[in-house]
Amino acid sequence: MSNSVLKPSNLSLLKVDMTLKEVEKVEVTCLVDNNVDVLLPSTGVARRPSIAKNWYDKPLVAEHGFCAALTLHKDGMKRRLLLDSGLDPMAASHNVDALGLDLSSCECLISSHGHVDHAGGLLNLRNKLDQKQKIPLVLHEYAFRNRLVKFQDGRTIDLPAPDKSLLAKARYEIVEKNSHILWIDDRVLVSGEIPRTNDFEKGFPNHYSELDGELEADPLIKDDQAAIVNVKDKGLGVITGCGHAGIINTLRYAKELTGKTGYTLYLEECTCPADCLNR
Ligand SMILES: [Zn+2]
Repeated sequence: MSNSVLKPSNLSLLKVDMTLKEVEKVEVTCLVDNNVDVLLPSTGVARRPSIAKNWYDKPLVAEHGFCAALTLHKDGMKRRLLLDSGLDPMAASHNVDALGLDLSSCECLISSHGHVDHAGGLLNLRNKLDQKQKIPLVLHEYAFRNRLVKFQDGRTIDLPAPDKSLLAKARYEIVEKNSHILWIDDRVLVSGEIPRTNDFEKGFPNHYSELDGELEADPLIKDDQAAIVNVKDKGLGVITGCGHAGIINTLRYAKELTGKTGYTLYLEECTCPADCLNR
């Protein structure tokens, strides 16, 4: 095994000449997360699905993974996109059916990073999207690296990369973009690689990447990125997956990219600011 360590890119905080346009409202529909509790009541900001009379009729499933649908509201129009796809190939698409969600108008899928608990459902979820046209799949090039986690108790867990050729065959248009990019008529900002600018969000120390057949320590997981929206009279909405870049780094970069603050965060349930230091 190589002793080399993947270094952070030479990114610094930037002033960027671009405008993230406002939306009036954004709905985040959680399609896969680590837990499900159908007895939770709705609140002013969280709407819970009704329980079917027959509990065995397509109950929502939970798993170690994450997938969300984002619906943007502007001028009476709705625009929809997906963030991630969960772990089990069937979980996200099962929950789409359980919730009765129509994804045929979904315009793109943003991958927060390449870990299998975020990318395992890509192929089956594709069947829920428009079959007549290619759907952009937006990710960082490092998302296609095989990964591995070594635990202190000696166990290892493989994190196989998504299969690029199968994704292309499924009519995803693969957009490998390492820096920020705007989507949905400039109403969603995909952060791209997030600069690591503090000394307390140290990444995932027992995480490795395969590079040219060798394993390299890869604590930074540089493919980690967030989706950012600009909600009228509210400020930024920032939606992350694992948040391996660190939440403070992510919010700081969102502010630098847009010049705006007033965050609302939507995090995957397993997101941990100290990012797995004690795993
Ligand atoms: Zn992850």
